[in-house]
Amino acid sequence: MSFFDFFSSLDQKEIVDRVYAKYDQTYLLTLINKESLHYYDFLALLSPSAESVLNEMAIKSQFITKKFFGNTMLLYVPLYLSNECSNACLYCGFNKNANIIRRTLSLKEIEQEILFLKEKGFDHILLLTGEYPSVAGIDYLEEAISLTKKYFSSISLEVFPSTEAKYKQLVDAGATGLTLYQETYHLPTYKLVHLSGPKTNFAFRLNAPEEALAAGFRKVGLGALLGLTDWRFDSAFVGSHAKYLMNKFWKSDVSISFPRLRHTPSSLPLIFTVSDKNLVQMILAFRLFLPSSALTLSTRESAELRDNLMGLCITQMSAESKTNPGGYTSNLSTEQFSTDDNRSLKKIISCLNKKGLDPILKDWSNHFQGFNQEPA
Ligand code: SF4
Repeated sequence: MSFFDFFSSLDQKEIVDRVYAKYDQTYLLTLINKESLHYYDFLALLSPSAESVLNEMAIKSQFITKKFFGNTMLLYVPLYLSNECSNACLYCGFNKNANIIRRTLSLKEIEQEILFLKEKGFDHILLLTGEYPSVAGIDYLEEAISLTKKYFSSISLEVFPSTEAKYKQLVDAGATGLTLYQETYHLPTYKLVHLSGPKTNFAFRLNAPEEALAAGFRKVGLGALLGLTDWRFDSAFVGSHAKYLMNKFWKSDVSISFPRLRHTPSSLPLIFTVSDKNLVQMILAFRLFLPSSALTLSTRESAELRDNLMGLCITQMSAESKTNPGGYTSNLSTEQFSTDDNRSLKKIISCLNKKGLDPILKDWSNHFQGFNQEPA
């Protein structure tokens, strides 16, 4: 049974009813104090009623985060390789109908960016593309990964959905992680915002994280693009997706990210506001439900919010992000979105240190994958 089959078998009405049921405080406090949470407990913590116990959720989250991750914060940097795309996602600046400056980096240009980022001290890198297989497909990525692994210990990807066989090519080349946001688990909304291109295939995308783990990726990242639909609905299904994968691929890591729409494109038919308070409740509920999962907050969010969530529940953060291909060493293409926290890596490290947290730049070596990393 694939995740799409499992997802199709879920009673969505029952799940929504549980998320919107009224829970009294005493009951919610009992859930927060449980050793491990059932899926239905997680749904209760996503509920509007649970807004009254956010402090208690935060205290328990901090305890759990310290228990499973110590004082660590993993820092990574994204590197956009291409902004070509054959999809028409209404919320994205790279969509095929956007009149922007398109660019796909050559190997020489990738190396230039890599050297710049390595010099800053990064050792975990996230390589990103749009979905345009004839220009930046599997073979292109394979070459990019082979080059990157000479300099970086850990390479993750945020690319297009694919099959186990094709993902295996990327694992064999040296990639360790794949992040793939479903964007939304609400099918009518999904259809409304994905007008054309391969991304219109909801089921193929939904099954791709499973294909990636079957191919040998060590970790996958899930998430919904917050703002497309009711965040409580999407969180409920991100949670079920994560649990499904963790049960099936128990040796692998499943992490969750919380990308929130930064701007409201006029083309979007509807926007569901996700306030800071909503975002915090969501992240805390995930921490209590998935105690050992890495939780990621990117530079889309403000420095203030990121600082407040350090040590509480978030365990991975990006830094110094540019969202246009070649953006670190030149400025010859259009960005996907603008970031909010634009502090340098040094400043983020200093902030972590002040809070008694340990910035982690390296927690993996590709020697473990059988590669000999050449000294950079
Ligand atoms: S979200 Fe991804 S697939 Fe959609 S238009 Fe943007 S880059 Fe392409």
